[in-house]
Amino acid sequence: MRINRTRLQKHLEKLAEIGKIGETGVCRLAHSKEDREAVEVVKGWMEEAGLTTKIDGFGNLIGRMEGTEKDKPILMLGSHIDSQPYGGRFDGTAGALGAIEVVHTMKDNAVIPKRTIEVICFSDEEGSRFNKGVFGVRALAGLLEEGELERKDKNGVTRKEALKEFGVEPDLSESPVYQKGDIEAFIELHIEQGPVLESKKKPVGIVSGISGPIWLTVTLEGFAGHAGSVPMHLRKDAMVGASEIISKFDRLIKNEGKDTTVGTVGSVQVFPNSRNIIPEKVEFTIDLRDIDLEHRTKLEEKLYTIIEETTSSYNLTHTISEDTRSEPRYCADWIKNIMKAEDKQLDLDSPVLMSGPFHDALFMSYISDYGMIFVRCEKGISHNPLEFAEMDDIEKGVQLLYQTALRIAQGEKA
Ligand SMILES: [Zn+2]
Repeated sequence: MRINRTRLQKHLEKLAEIGKIGETGVCRLAHSKEDREAVEVVKGWMEEAGLTTKIDGFGNLIGRMEGTEKDKPILMLGSHIDSQPYGGRFDGTAGALGAIEVVHTMKDNAVIPKRTIEVICFSDEEGSRFNKGVFGVRALAGLLEEGELERKDKNGVTRKEALKEFGVEPDLSESPVYQKGDIEAFIELHIEQGPVLESKKKPVGIVSGISGPIWLTVTLEGFAGHAGSVPMHLRKDAMVGASEIISKFDRLIKNEGKDTTVGTVGSVQVFPNSRNIIPEKVEFTIDLRDIDLEHRTKLEEKLYTIIEETTSSYNLTHTISEDTRSEPRYCADWIKNIMKAEDKQLDLDSPVLMSGPFHDALFMSYISDYGMIFVRCEKGISHNPLEFAEMDDIEKGVQLLYQTALRIAQGEKA
């Protein structure tokens, strides 16, 4: 049984018209008019695929195909259809529309699953509007935080107001929607958003897990002075200390990191930021990720030593604040094993790789076993209108999703 590539391609092209910017970009911000329009269109495709649909109070679009064995935990498939303000056509949509294609193919072939299948388009994965994303999936899993509905966008509209405008009644008491044990497996297909598959010349990848980031803010303080009068040996220049830490951090990750370790300083602020004043205070961010938690911890400790030694050698003081600390979450072996077996059948020879970015699946992992399939994207570009994935690659990924889903839907838990 093959998925219907023409239908999937048509759906991808049609969805890309909603909120279209320029030739190839899209802007469908969470809970916006464009988001609502997209949800309506995709809801129609779910119904054509034989699913009973609903939109929940958090803005999630859910389609359900009843299985014959109603007591069995369900299979859930999906991703998101909201986008970044200056986003691409494939981020989220490949997986969301791919999941609908999977059940549509079952319907075309008169397959009645044993397990109930739900297909979901999670609301606000991207997080750009309210500066906090993966809202829909966290609502499902009971991971919302205090005050989430009161967060405001840049126009002062709260999430609660935006959701009402979108057409739903948010009610936090409905979260969590699912408990552990309700869902046997969640499977998400997504474009890779990185260059690994392209470099390996492979269309599809099987994900091993999602590496969690540590986000730190490091502040160094020295003493400001006139750039023309303070002799070099009397200075406490926070900028020189920061630049040394940044380059030592980069060398540490390059020399001692594994293939899966990445470290980035992406934001720096200098005070008073003037060409003729010695920098008194520098604040910079650290993003450190690895799928191997033990190794990440080892490198984190070495980073602290670098910060200690460098600040003392430049007579600076420092503080480190922790903004985020996520643990890596691994895909279930039994799901990966089914994927690998089906991958062999399809002769794809897909490599196993980890995900640096997080996805809805990361949060589903707290209530369900999960698996992910990656599809190659050009030059690894994403969150950009230039984002591009070949239809041939998407077709292969969705075919693998179909075959994996079919085995799990028919009751298998290897
Ligand atoms: Zn995405």
